[in-house]
Amino acid sequence: MEICTPEQFSVSGELTDDGNKKLADYLVGFHAPNIDDDAVKCVKCGSHIFGGGIMDALLSTFTWGLVHGEGFCTECNWPIRMYHSVDLDREEKSSFQFPLPHRCYTDDSHETEVDPALGHQDSEK
Ligand SMILES: [Zn+2]
Repeated sequence: MEICTPEQFSVSGELTDDGNKKLADYLVGFHAPNIDDDAVKCVKCGSHIFGGGIMDALLSTFTWGLVHGEGFCTECNWPIRMYHSVDLDREEKSSFQFPLPHRCYTDDSHETEVDPALGHQDSEK
């Protein structure tokens, strides 16, 4: 799976190099969004997470979790963060709303990552 990078967001072009680095450091904890037909699809099961339109009420499998800004896909339980707050520099703090799938690991030292395409099996190193 591809890792999320600032270049995937239009705001990247407006940031300083330092701001882009800080955003990149934040985004490394997430997979690149799976965007298809202008909708964000679940990285694991492909179900409709977010399209920004009225159909989201009917189609979306995103469910809010207990922690503010966090949720998951109802179909497969893959964890997703919807609300983001990133310190870009001393003056500017960026908050944005976008469903980004967390990268997940089978160990606390983050050596073995779970590939959503492989389900919940251990990915190869
Ligand atoms: Zn899913």
